[in-house]
Amino acid sequence: MRELGRVTAVSRVYESAPVGGPEQSAFFNAAALLVTELDPLALLDALLAIEVGLGRVRRERWGPRTIDLDVLWIDGLAFDHPRLRVPHPHLTERAFAMRTLHDVAPSARDPRTGAPLTLDAAAETQALTALDASL
Ligand code: AMP
Repeated sequence: MRELGRVTAVSRVYESAPVGGPEQSAFFNAAALLVTELDPLALLDALLAIEVGLGRVRRERWGPRTIDLDVLWIDGLAFDHPRLRVPHPHLTERAFAMRTLHDVAPSARDPRTGAPLTLDAAAETQALTALDASL
């Protein structure tokens, strides 16, 4: 990811139980704040290429995966395209997404309304365990 721009912050790593889908083991979630010159679709393509490079094979929707890279939020930009929606359509309903975003961009705002993206009650419904930073 460092080849795509400048990584200016990295969140803690959080373990969470899978939401929906088949029975599977826990997920590890983290976010990076990237400053990049890439346009949103070029960024998505670069992330998909990293997934492929790390050996991701898409077998089952919502199923176990080695890696999943998402664009959660872009400062000041709402983007609606068949291949990419930003902010991520499930951002505010997923505690792991809100928590990791908050770690790297605590003053993030909704680009459509200007309202702060706070860690509200809905986002805190999922139990998260922060792994020790030394892991
Ligand atoms: P998934 O494997 O479930 O993460 O879905 C990946 C697909 O969702 C990608 O191929 C994208 O075209 C699409 N997509 C739409 N919005 C986003 C987003 N904000 N971040 C990542 N993928 C997205």
